[in-house]
This record gives sequence, C-alpha cells and structure tokens, in this order.
Amino acid sequence: MSFIQRHGGVGILTPEDVPDLRNAVKEAFAILMDGQWHSGQEIKERHRHGQGEALRRVRDPMRRVVWFSCGAASAVAARLTLEKHKEDVEVVYCDTMASEHEDNQRFFDDVQEWLGQPITRIKSEKYDTVDDVFEKTRYLAGIQGARCTVEMKKVPRFNFQRPDDIHIFGLTADEPGRIATFEKNNHDLNLEWPLQTEGMTKDRCLAYIAQAGIVLPTMYQLGYRNNNCKGCVKATSARCWNMIRRDFPEVFQRRCEQSRELNVRLTRLHGERIFLDELPPDYLSGDLENISCGPDCSTQADLFEVAI
Ligand code: SF4
Repeated sequence: MSFIQRHGGVGILTPEDVPDLRNAVKEAFAILMDGQWHSGQEIKERHRHGQGEALRRVRDPMRRVVWFSCGAASAVAARLTLEKHKEDVEVVYCDTMASEHEDNQRFFDDVQEWLGQPITRIKSEKYDTVDDVFEKTRYLAGIQGARCTVEMKKVPRFNFQRPDDIHIFGLTADEPGRIATFEKNNHDLNLEWPLQTEGMTKDRCLAYIAQAGIVLPTMYQLGYRNNNCKGCVKATSARCWNMIRRDFPEVFQRRCEQSRELNVRLTRLHGERIFLDELPPDYLSGDLENISCGPDCSTQADLFEVAI
C-alpha cells in the first residue's frame, strides 16, 4: 500500500511515495489557489473530466475576455459586459499604441477609469510598431490581409487566449455580415455579441461614449470612421489616403516609400489601383471604408492587390 496506507492509515513514507506525495501537494496548492476548500470526492469528480483541465479550472475560473481596440465600439462592449457580469471579465488591449494617434493614450486612460478596472495590455514579442512589421517581414498588405494585424493583434491574442474563454469583440449591431463571417470562420471560439444583442450600432456607440463624458478619440474628430493606426494599410480609398496626407504628412510620405519599395498599390482612383505617390493631392471625394482593426480581423482579400 504505502503513502500512509493510501492516505487512510498508519504507515511510513518511503522513497517510492515521493511522486504520489508530490502530486498530492500540487493538488492541495491548486485547491488553495482557488481560495476555497474542495473535498476529495469533488476533486475525484473533477479528475474524471481530465486531470490537467480539472486542476486548471480550480486554479483559473472561466473568463470573459473583451478585446478592447481603443475604439468606441469595443469600449462600449466592455462596459456592457462588465455591467452584466461583474466577475471574471478581463478587458484586453493588443498594444499598437506607438503606431496610433497620440490622443489614444488619453482615451485608453479615460475608458479604463470608466470601466473601473485595469485594462490588460498584451504585445507582440517580435515587433514594436507596425513599421517594424513592414520592415522586418517585407510585407505590407496583400490577399491575406494586413501583416501588421496578424503580428500585432492576432498572434498576441492566440498566445493569451484559453480554450474555454468567452470572447467579446467590438462588432456592432449594424455589422451582421461581419459577425456571421467571424462565427463561420471561428467555430472553436465561444462568442458573445453584446453590442448586437443590445442593438448598439456604431453611431449609438459613439453617442454612448460621448454621453459618458468621454471625449472621443481625435481620429473620429478628424473625420475618420475608425480609430486605427495612422496611415493604416487596410485603407484603399483615395479620400482616406488624402486625409492621411493632410493630417499626417510624414506618415503618408513613409507609406509612399514603403509601398514603392514593396511594390504594393495601396489605393485606387476611378476603380484603378495606383501607388500612393500617383494620387492627386486634391482628390477628397468618395466614401471612407469601414476598416476597423482588432484581434478579430479576418482576411480581406477584396481590399488588397499587389502591383504587377
Ligand atoms: S490598424 Fe491598420 S496599420 Fe494598425 S495594425 Fe491594424 S491593419 Fe495594421
């Protein structure tokens, strides 16, 4: 028998008992981490569903993870989730702050205070900025989408997430197509859509933030539809790029050089793909596309085209 007669009797510990004893200590530690006492019977039941998973669940209860992208919609999604589920909600931001408008740190701080809990920041282990991604990978954007989204937002999300997380993204009630596509492409994720459930459109989210007394990020005030990085490579409209040229001339110049060097026609004029330095500076007509960017981004083959 040994190990004190299989836990119930009088006996002497022997060297052969050490592995069993070590496991027992590990279990006890996991139980204490949970802050509660669990009976042996309960632990046995948990182990029936897989020992590793049982121990992890004791230690780390299931989470709702709200992916905050420093935009109005995901801020509202976080607020609604926290109002409904007071515990085990983690609000997470994939850090691209160094490539975003300087006002975004102020918005981040305001939202954090409004939510009443810290926002977790996670970051790419390989790249500091989107320009760093472009320079090291020699890739701007193409039929697989934007490389920076993958490296700065998706990879950090994959590293952070756990199989039983419930994910909440800032897709709004007026984006049913994107929600359906995301669900179709992500069968493995548990998803909740509080903005859709509450009928919160993009415009209603903007109004909600303003009503909370939070000044909207400067990018919205400058007329952009999304609070993306400055000179976001997902943009294709001539109007958006001429706004970038007007508001952030040094970023526009850098994108001109990068897109020539990497042979990518980022914009279009009258339906034709052109390089940024071929765009007439006074062309400000046409629509601005919805180019929201978050850890939910899927490929956008229709948006990109490599020059030939
Ligand atoms: S917002 Fe644009 S530039 Fe920034 S990570 Fe997303 S796709 Fe890249």
